[in-house]
Amino acid sequence: MRLVLLGPPGAGKGTQAQRLVARHGIVQLSTGDMLRAAVAAGTPIGRKAKDVMARGELVPDDVVVQIISDRIDQPDAKKGFILDGFPRTVAQAEALEQLLAKKNARLDAVIELVVDDGILVSRIEKRVGEMRARGEPIRADDNPESLKKRLAAYHAQTAPLADYYRKKGLLKSIDGMAPIDACTAAIDRHLTVPAPRKAPVRKSPRGGTRGSVKARSGGRKAGSPKAQSRKPTARKTRRKVVAAKKRPAGRKLPRNSAQKRRSMRARRLTKRR
Ligand code: AMP
Repeated sequence: MRLVLLGPPGAGKGTQAQRLVARHGIVQLSTGDMLRAAVAAGTPIGRKAKDVMARGELVPDDVVVQIISDRIDQPDAKKGFILDGFPRTVAQAEALEQLLAKKNARLDAVIELVVDDGILVSRIEKRVGEMRARGEPIRADDNPESLKKRLAAYHAQTAPLADYYRKKGLLKSIDGMAPIDACTAAIDRHLTVPAPRKAPVRKSPRGGTRGSVKARSGGRKAGSPKAQSRKPTARKTRRKVVAAKKRPAGRKLPRNSAQKRRSMRARRLTKRR
């Protein structure tokens, strides 16, 4: 399964991605994490990205596309992946599509976590407070100034991706302000193909068992325009009328098996008497 998680900073993409990893056995590919690792290791990419990231701006498209292209070629990504924080621009989305097309692959779904800006700011402040309390290093871009820029970058460059993927029929928007478990459940519902519903078997007034009205009408509700269209066609009705006319007078209509069984039982009982 190949997924994209879309959403502004602080929307909960990381948390939901970890749950998807556990549930589907696929890897989480976070460009933010990869870039932070490159910055920490002092690689050429890291040196290029360091200041841009600290300011809350986006790293150039070609840099992140190259990182993702290398990463999805690795064996652990063969089974599938969740892209967290990538793509962030339409140009990145187009590059991703081309990368996947070369491998005869495509995305299965794009999950968008929708959260109001006001909530995002307080969520990030809370995250910073918790990290500080645990004695963990604080991200260089987790400060009010950079956060404002990250949100502005999201609205200007990343939000248009929702439309881009909606037009491709891949987008599923989830309420990211709902509790974490509710978000996970909503994502699961979207990713799980519902099993076909079995029609309940119930007793008919004549004894035998029969499927529900819906099942008998081919999954359509009785009275629905489609179910109505299952009535015998004019041609079939005409055929029946013609057959009845051809039948010699006095000859009975062919009987169905239930009728035959009933008359055989009656005959047996009469013989016994
Ligand atoms: P994140 O951890 O996803 O919030 O990303 C942190 C920072 O890394 C962003 O503010 C950007 O500077 C940079 N970054 C991460 N992913 C991308 C991307 N796909 N395109 C451009 N810049 C990115």
